[in-house]
Amino acid sequence: MKTIFGPIHSRRFGVSLGIDLSPSFKQCNFDCLYCELAPAATVDHQDTVVSVKEIITDLKAALKEHRNIDEITITANGEPTLYPHLDQLIDEIDKIKEEKETLILTNSATLTDEAVFNTLLKLDKVKLSLDAVTPEVFKKIDRPHPSLKINDVVSAIERFSHAYRGKLFIEILFVRGLNDTKEEIAALNDVLKKIKALRIDIGTIDRPPAYPVEGISYGELHSIATQFDADLPINIASRQHAEFVQSAYTEEEIINTLDKRPLTQEDIEILFDATTQKALQELIDAKKVIKIERAKLEFYIPAENVQRKRKKS
Ligand code: SF4
Repeated sequence: MKTIFGPIHSRRFGVSLGIDLSPSFKQCNFDCLYCELAPAATVDHQDTVVSVKEIITDLKAALKEHRNIDEITITANGEPTLYPHLDQLIDEIDKIKEEKETLILTNSATLTDEAVFNTLLKLDKVKLSLDAVTPEVFKKIDRPHPSLKINDVVSAIERFSHAYRGKLFIEILFVRGLNDTKEEIAALNDVLKKIKALRIDIGTIDRPPAYPVEGISYGELHSIATQFDADLPINIASRQHAEFVQSAYTEEEIINTLDKRPLTQEDIEILFDATTQKALQELIDAKKVIKIERAKLEFYIPAENVQRKRKKS
Protein backbone atom coordinates (compact mmCIF):
# COMPACT_ATOMS: atom_id res chain seq x y z
CA MET A 1 0.00 0.00 0.00
CA LYS A 2 1.27 3.45 -0.84
CA THR A 3 1.42 5.57 2.30
CA ILE A 4 3.65 8.40 1.00
CA PHE A 5 2.78 10.88 -1.75
CA GLY A 6 4.34 14.01 -3.20
CA PRO A 7 6.39 16.11 -3.06
CA ILE A 8 3.56 18.66 -3.18
CA HIS A 9 4.42 22.31 -3.77
CA SER A 10 2.08 24.56 -1.81
CA ARG A 11 2.19 28.37 -1.68
CA ARG A 12 0.90 28.24 1.88
CA PHE A 13 2.96 25.37 3.30
CA GLY A 14 6.07 25.01 1.11
CA VAL A 15 7.33 21.70 -0.35
CA SER A 16 6.02 18.68 1.51
CA LEU A 17 5.90 14.93 1.47
CA GLY A 18 2.48 13.62 2.46
CA ILE A 19 1.68 10.61 4.61
CA ASP A 20 -1.70 8.99 3.93
CA LEU A 21 -2.89 7.21 7.09
CA SER A 22 -5.80 5.55 5.32
CA PRO A 23 -4.40 4.63 1.90
CA SER A 24 -6.93 2.01 0.85
CA PHE A 25 -10.27 3.81 1.40
CA LYS A 26 -12.00 6.70 3.17
CA GLN A 27 -12.24 6.43 6.96
CA CYS A 28 -13.63 9.66 8.40
CA ASN A 29 -15.74 10.91 11.31
CA PHE A 30 -17.26 13.53 8.94
CA ASP A 31 -18.98 13.09 5.59
CA CYS A 32 -18.66 16.69 4.39
CA LEU A 33 -20.89 17.83 1.55
CA TYR A 34 -17.86 19.33 -0.20
CA CYS A 35 -15.47 16.38 0.33
CA GLU A 36 -13.39 15.59 -2.74
CA LEU A 37 -13.58 11.89 -1.81
CA ALA A 38 -16.72 9.84 -2.48
CA PRO A 39 -19.48 9.93 0.17
CA ALA A 40 -19.02 7.35 2.94
CA ALA A 41 -20.66 6.48 6.24
CA THR A 42 -18.91 8.13 9.19
CA VAL A 43 -16.76 6.11 11.59
CA ASP A 44 -15.24 6.99 14.96
CA HIS A 45 -12.21 4.69 14.64
CA GLN A 46 -10.16 3.04 11.89
CA ASP A 47 -10.93 -0.60 11.08
CA THR A 48 -8.14 -0.93 8.55
CA VAL A 49 -4.86 0.20 10.07
CA VAL A 50 -1.43 0.50 8.43
CA SER A 51 1.54 -0.28 10.66
CA VAL A 52 3.92 2.44 11.88
CA LYS A 53 6.78 0.28 10.61
CA GLU A 54 5.40 0.30 7.06
CA ILE A 55 4.89 4.08 7.06
CA ILE A 56 8.36 4.81 8.44
CA THR A 57 10.00 2.46 5.91
CA ASP A 58 8.16 4.23 3.06
CA LEU A 59 8.99 7.65 4.51
CA LYS A 60 12.70 6.89 4.86
CA ALA A 61 12.81 5.80 1.20
CA ALA A 62 10.96 8.94 0.06
CA LEU A 63 13.20 11.23 2.11
CA LYS A 64 16.25 9.64 0.52
CA GLU A 65 14.86 10.34 -2.93
CA HIS A 66 13.57 13.87 -2.26
CA ARG A 67 16.08 16.00 -0.40
CA ASN A 68 14.55 19.50 -0.60
CA ILE A 69 11.52 18.95 1.59
CA ASP A 70 10.27 21.65 3.99
CA GLU A 71 7.78 19.53 5.82
CA ILE A 72 6.17 16.16 6.35
CA THR A 73 2.38 16.43 6.17
CA ILE A 74 0.21 13.90 7.99
CA THR A 75 -3.10 13.45 6.25
CA ALA A 76 -5.45 10.65 5.15
CA ASN A 77 -8.24 9.54 2.90
CA GLY A 78 -10.43 10.70 5.73
CA GLU A 79 -9.43 11.97 9.16
CA PRO A 80 -5.77 11.28 10.13
CA THR A 81 -6.34 11.58 13.90
CA LEU A 82 -8.45 8.41 13.79
CA TYR A 83 -5.19 6.54 13.21
CA PRO A 84 -4.69 4.64 16.48
CA HIS A 85 -0.87 4.81 16.53
CA LEU A 86 -0.54 8.52 15.76
CA ASP A 87 1.42 9.32 18.91
CA GLN A 88 3.98 6.60 18.27
CA LEU A 89 4.17 7.56 14.58
CA ILE A 90 4.99 11.21 15.41
CA ASP A 91 7.76 10.07 17.78
CA GLU A 92 9.24 7.91 15.02
CA ILE A 93 9.01 10.74 12.45
CA ASP A 94 10.74 13.09 14.89
CA LYS A 95 13.72 10.71 14.99
CA ILE A 96 14.30 10.98 11.22
CA LYS A 97 12.89 14.34 10.13
CA GLU A 98 16.06 16.41 10.82
CA GLU A 99 15.27 20.09 10.07
CA LYS A 100 11.94 19.37 8.37
CA GLU A 101 8.73 20.36 10.14
CA THR A 102 5.75 18.11 10.81
CA LEU A 103 2.24 19.27 9.89
CA ILE A 104 -1.16 17.61 10.35
CA LEU A 105 -4.35 18.49 8.46
CA THR A 106 -7.30 17.63 10.67
CA ASN A 107 -11.02 18.37 10.85
CA SER A 108 -10.51 19.20 14.59
CA ALA A 109 -13.27 16.94 15.95
CA THR A 110 -11.02 14.50 17.84
CA LEU A 111 -9.34 17.33 19.77
CA THR A 112 -12.08 16.62 22.30
CA ASP A 113 -10.17 13.39 23.04
CA GLU A 114 -7.45 14.21 25.57
CA ALA A 115 -5.01 11.67 24.06
CA VAL A 116 -5.31 13.19 20.56
CA PHE A 117 -5.09 16.70 22.05
CA ASN A 118 -1.76 15.83 23.73
CA THR A 119 -0.44 14.05 20.63
CA LEU A 120 -1.08 17.07 18.39
CA LEU A 121 0.87 19.29 20.81
CA LYS A 122 4.00 17.45 19.61
CA LEU A 123 3.72 18.66 16.00
CA ASP A 124 5.50 21.68 14.51
CA LYS A 125 2.38 22.81 12.64
CA VAL A 126 -1.30 22.01 12.97
CA LYS A 127 -4.05 22.99 10.57
CA LEU A 128 -7.53 22.75 12.05
CA SER A 129 -10.64 22.93 9.89
CA LEU A 130 -13.62 24.78 11.32
CA ASP A 131 -16.43 25.28 8.81
CA ALA A 132 -19.24 26.18 11.19
CA VAL A 133 -19.82 26.82 14.87
CA THR A 134 -23.61 26.58 15.19
CA PRO A 135 -24.93 23.02 15.64
CA GLU A 136 -27.43 23.25 12.72
CA VAL A 137 -24.91 24.46 10.13
CA PHE A 138 -22.18 22.12 11.43
CA LYS A 139 -24.52 19.15 11.00
CA LYS A 140 -25.58 20.23 7.51
CA ILE A 141 -22.17 20.97 6.05
CA ASP A 142 -19.84 18.48 7.80
CA ARG A 143 -22.39 15.68 8.43
CA PRO A 144 -20.44 14.49 11.52
CA HIS A 145 -20.52 11.16 13.34
CA PRO A 146 -23.46 11.32 15.82
CA SER A 147 -21.07 11.28 18.80
CA LEU A 148 -19.64 14.72 17.87
CA LYS A 149 -20.93 18.02 19.27
CA ILE A 150 -19.67 21.29 17.81
CA ASN A 151 -19.69 23.13 21.15
CA ASP A 152 -17.22 20.58 22.56
CA VAL A 153 -15.06 20.85 19.43
CA VAL A 154 -14.97 24.65 19.63
CA SER A 155 -13.97 24.57 23.33
CA ALA A 156 -11.23 22.05 22.55
CA ILE A 157 -9.88 24.17 19.68
CA GLU A 158 -9.80 27.24 21.90
CA ARG A 159 -8.00 25.37 24.69
CA PHE A 160 -5.58 23.79 22.20
CA SER A 161 -4.69 27.15 20.64
CA HIS A 162 -3.54 28.43 24.02
CA ALA A 163 -1.64 25.29 25.04
CA TYR A 164 0.10 24.75 21.68
CA ARG A 165 3.60 26.14 21.11
CA GLY A 166 3.86 25.41 17.37
CA LYS A 167 2.34 27.16 14.36
CA LEU A 168 -1.45 26.93 14.30
CA PHE A 169 -3.57 27.49 11.21
CA ILE A 170 -7.35 27.49 10.92
CA GLU A 171 -9.14 26.73 7.65
CA ILE A 172 -12.76 27.57 6.84
CA LEU A 173 -14.33 26.32 3.64
CA PHE A 174 -17.42 28.22 2.51
CA VAL A 175 -20.32 26.50 0.76
CA ARG A 176 -23.05 28.55 -0.91
CA GLY A 177 -26.22 28.87 1.16
CA LEU A 178 -24.79 27.03 4.18
CA ASN A 179 -22.02 28.73 6.18
CA ASP A 180 -21.84 31.96 4.10
CA THR A 181 -24.70 33.69 5.93
CA LYS A 182 -24.14 36.87 7.99
CA GLU A 183 -25.27 35.01 11.14
CA GLU A 184 -22.82 32.12 10.74
CA ILE A 185 -19.93 34.47 9.87
CA ALA A 186 -20.69 36.56 12.97
CA ALA A 187 -20.75 33.39 15.10
CA LEU A 188 -17.47 32.21 13.53
CA ASN A 189 -15.97 35.65 14.18
CA ASP A 190 -16.86 35.45 17.90
CA VAL A 191 -15.16 32.06 18.17
CA LEU A 192 -12.09 33.03 16.12
CA LYS A 193 -11.44 36.01 18.38
CA LYS A 194 -10.81 33.55 21.23
CA ILE A 195 -8.49 31.30 19.20
CA LYS A 196 -4.75 32.03 18.99
CA ALA A 197 -3.97 31.20 15.33
CA LEU A 198 -1.10 32.33 13.16
CA ARG A 199 -3.28 32.43 10.06
CA ILE A 200 -6.93 31.80 9.17
CA ASP A 201 -7.33 30.57 5.60
CA ILE A 202 -10.76 31.04 4.07
CA GLY A 203 -11.57 29.23 0.86
CA THR A 204 -14.31 27.55 -1.08
CA ILE A 205 -14.94 24.42 -3.15
CA ASP A 206 -12.39 24.11 -5.93
CA ARG A 207 -12.63 20.39 -6.68
CA PRO A 208 -15.65 18.26 -7.61
CA PRO A 209 -17.64 17.78 -4.34
CA ALA A 210 -19.11 14.53 -2.98
CA TYR A 211 -22.64 16.02 -3.01
CA PRO A 212 -24.35 18.56 -5.29
CA VAL A 213 -23.25 21.76 -3.51
CA GLU A 214 -21.68 24.93 -4.87
CA GLY A 215 -18.78 27.09 -3.85
CA ILE A 216 -18.89 30.88 -3.71
CA SER A 217 -17.09 33.40 -5.91
CA TYR A 218 -13.80 35.09 -5.10
CA GLY A 219 -15.73 38.38 -4.74
CA GLU A 220 -18.01 36.80 -2.13
CA LEU A 221 -15.00 35.39 -0.28
CA HIS A 222 -13.47 38.84 -0.26
CA SER A 223 -16.69 40.33 1.07
CA ILE A 224 -16.76 37.63 3.82
CA ALA A 225 -13.15 38.48 4.70
CA THR A 226 -14.21 42.06 5.44
CA GLN A 227 -16.97 40.85 7.79
CA PHE A 228 -14.40 39.38 10.19
CA ASP A 229 -12.64 41.60 12.74
CA ALA A 230 -9.82 43.46 11.02
CA ASP A 231 -7.17 42.16 13.44
CA LEU A 232 -7.91 38.49 12.69
CA PRO A 233 -5.16 37.08 10.42
CA ILE A 234 -7.54 36.17 7.56
CA ASN A 235 -6.06 34.96 4.27
CA ILE A 236 -8.16 34.29 1.18
CA ALA A 237 -6.98 30.91 -0.08
CA SER A 238 -8.85 30.09 -3.25
CA ARG A 239 -8.30 29.30 -6.87
CA GLN A 240 -11.90 30.25 -7.67
CA HIS A 241 -11.33 33.75 -8.86
CA ALA A 242 -11.26 33.54 -12.64
CA GLU A 243 -14.65 35.22 -12.91
CA PHE A 244 -13.79 38.13 -10.66
CA VAL A 245 -13.64 41.52 -12.39
CA GLN A 246 -10.81 43.91 -11.48
CA SER A 247 -11.96 47.29 -10.14
CA ALA A 248 -10.62 50.84 -9.96
CA TYR A 249 -9.84 52.15 -6.46
CA THR A 250 -8.86 55.68 -5.43
CA GLU A 251 -5.77 56.13 -3.25
CA GLU A 252 -8.01 56.50 -0.21
CA GLU A 253 -9.95 53.35 -1.11
CA ILE A 254 -6.70 51.39 -1.48
CA ILE A 255 -5.61 52.44 2.01
CA ASN A 256 -9.07 51.72 3.45
CA THR A 257 -9.20 48.29 1.82
CA LEU A 258 -5.72 47.35 3.10
CA ASP A 259 -6.64 48.71 6.51
CA LYS A 260 -9.71 46.47 6.68
CA ARG A 261 -8.00 43.48 5.16
CA PRO A 262 -4.29 43.07 4.33
CA LEU A 263 -3.92 41.69 0.79
CA THR A 264 -1.36 39.44 -0.89
CA GLN A 265 0.14 40.21 -4.31
CA GLU A 266 -2.20 37.58 -5.76
CA ASP A 267 -5.26 39.28 -4.20
CA ILE A 268 -4.09 42.61 -5.59
CA GLU A 269 -3.76 41.25 -9.12
CA ILE A 270 -7.30 39.87 -8.87
CA LEU A 271 -8.99 42.88 -7.24
CA PHE A 272 -7.19 45.97 -8.60
CA ASP A 273 -7.18 47.13 -12.22
CA ALA A 274 -3.92 48.22 -13.87
CA THR A 275 -4.30 51.91 -12.87
CA THR A 276 -5.00 50.94 -9.26
CA GLN A 277 -2.01 48.61 -9.20
CA LYS A 278 0.13 51.53 -10.43
CA ALA A 279 -1.33 53.78 -7.72
CA LEU A 280 -0.54 51.10 -5.14
CA GLN A 281 3.07 50.96 -6.37
CA GLU A 282 3.30 54.74 -5.86
CA LEU A 283 1.99 54.32 -2.29
CA ILE A 284 4.64 51.63 -1.72
CA ASP A 285 7.37 53.90 -3.15
CA ALA A 286 6.16 56.70 -0.87
CA LYS A 287 6.31 54.21 2.07
CA LYS A 288 2.62 54.74 2.82
CA VAL A 289 2.03 51.02 2.19
CA ILE A 290 4.46 48.35 3.33
CA LYS A 291 4.87 44.60 3.03
CA ILE A 292 4.75 42.31 6.07
CA GLU A 293 5.26 38.57 6.33
CA ARG A 294 2.71 36.39 8.08
CA ALA A 295 3.34 32.64 8.16
CA LYS A 296 5.21 32.46 4.83
CA LEU A 297 2.81 34.77 2.95
CA GLU A 298 3.53 38.43 2.21
CA PHE A 299 0.76 40.97 2.77
CA TYR A 300 0.45 44.66 1.96
CA ILE A 301 -0.79 46.90 4.78
CA PRO A 302 -0.91 50.67 5.38
CA ALA A 303 2.37 51.79 7.04
CA GLU A 304 0.25 53.67 9.59
CA ASN A 305 -1.06 50.38 10.99
CA VAL A 306 2.43 49.36 12.09
CA GLN A 307 3.04 52.76 13.70
CA ARG A 308 -0.35 52.51 15.43
CA LYS A 309 0.58 49.08 16.84
CA ARG A 310 3.99 50.33 17.99
CA LYS A 311 2.36 53.21 19.85
CA LYS A 312 -0.01 50.77 21.58
CA SER A 313 2.77 48.47 22.81
S1 SF4 B 1 -13.21 15.82 7.01
FE1 SF4 B 1 -12.07 15.83 5.10
S2 SF4 B 1 -11.98 13.68 4.46
FE2 SF4 B 1 -13.56 13.84 6.04
S3 SF4 B 1 -15.43 14.09 4.88
FE3 SF4 B 1 -14.70 16.15 5.41
S4 SF4 B 1 -13.47 16.78 3.66
FE4 SF4 B 1 -13.78 14.56 3.48
